[in-house]
Amino acid sequence: MSLPANARILVLIGPGGTGKGTVALAVIERVPRLWLSRSWTTRPQRPHEDPEAYVFVSDEQFMAHVAEDGFLEWAEFLGHRYGTPVPELPEGNDVLLEIEIEGALQVLERIPEATVILLVPPSEEVQIERLRGRGDPEEKVQDRVVKGREELLRGRKIATYEVINDDLEEAVAEVAGIVESLRLA
Ligand code: ADP
Ligand code: 5GP
Repeated sequence: MSLPANARILVLIGPGGTGKGTVALAVIERVPRLWLSRSWTTRPQRPHEDPEAYVFVSDEQFMAHVAEDGFLEWAEFLGHRYGTPVPELPEGNDVLLEIEIEGALQVLERIPEATVILLVPPSEEVQIERLRGRGDPEEKVQDRVVKGREELLRGRKIATYEVINDDLEEAVAEVAGIVESLRLA
């Protein structure tokens, strides 16, 4: 298995705490033959975070994988490295990446036909509530809000679609609809 030539690449970006991870999981439940990429990260696992959320690795393991050309893209974000392993998916599947903006730019450079979807929170207040609700420590909340403003500005320049994650069900239906419409095109 490898990345089939006809696989569609969907890239979900947006400020931290918007709900990208939550929406991505719900979308793959709903859309058949859509495969969610599992990233590697050097960030420590958060308390209560699903151990399957990432492949948690040391800096050395991460850089060894970079050296063997094992990532489709990788980037540093708020002091930790994150990367998408070269996707290995069955023929007939499309792939969904949930990544930050530098990684999205690298994907577009390698695969210009990739579709970028920018997920946005209804407001910064709601974003902050969600970050706190997820248990992020206060200084991380502030870092992610500041970084999020930049991600919104830069994201709007590369995204084909913008989806507001206010009501979860509606946002999931909208992203699923985008995948379905791309398949019909
Ligand atoms: P991101 O991946 O963008 O950083 P998460 O998926 O971790 O964000 O979501 C941040 C928090 O917000 C989580 O606690 C999640 O359960 C919650 N959340 C996500 N989407 C919604 C929504 N539409 N309404 C209310 N809470 C949400
Ligand atoms: P978090 O620490 O909140 O899980 O993720 C921080 C940021 O890294 C988020 O914007 C998330 O989308 C992004 N991210 C997660 N995996 C990857 C990846 O494989 N590559 C890149 N470039 N960013 C990633």
